[in-house]
Amino acid sequence: MLHIHLPPESRDRLVAALKDAGPREVGGILMAEHTGVNEFTVRDLTVHRRGTWTSFVRSLTEAVLGLRTFFNRTQRAYTRYNYLGEWHSHPSFSTQPSNTDDASMRAIVGDPSVGATFVVLVVLRLGDAGVLAASAHTYLTDGSKHESQLTY
Ligand SMILES: [Zn+2]
Repeated sequence: MLHIHLPPESRDRLVAALKDAGPREVGGILMAEHTGVNEFTVRDLTVHRRGTWTSFVRSLTEAVLGLRTFFNRTQRAYTRYNYLGEWHSHPSFSTQPSNTDDASMRAIVGDPSVGATFVVLVVLRLGDAGVLAASAHTYLTDGSKHESQLTY
């Protein structure tokens, strides 16, 4: 099982973005450091508003993954921070990925031109009293989806 660690600074940025967005959806991409066996620690993330982020995030994801494929191919030590996946909010419903979310993540990981071996989707919402609820799932190139552990 993949373990995703959300350190306080990343968690605070996400909580601030969720508060700021209120009832609107918000999302972005996650960059992470490989910090252990099957363990990734989020080091950076982007924040985009609904209506802009879906297509923007998709193109950014493809750009980042395309770059990684390029650097892998050239065997260059590109950066220790890599694209991990995406996050978005479900302001008013469960943090489980929707069918659309599943289809979108499978399309990204299954696209040979982006060259990902896995992608992670984190879905978040702020519950009553501002308590953060979140889920993480990992999508593999074989089409499978696995629940992942998220600590924050
Ligand atoms: Zn969703």
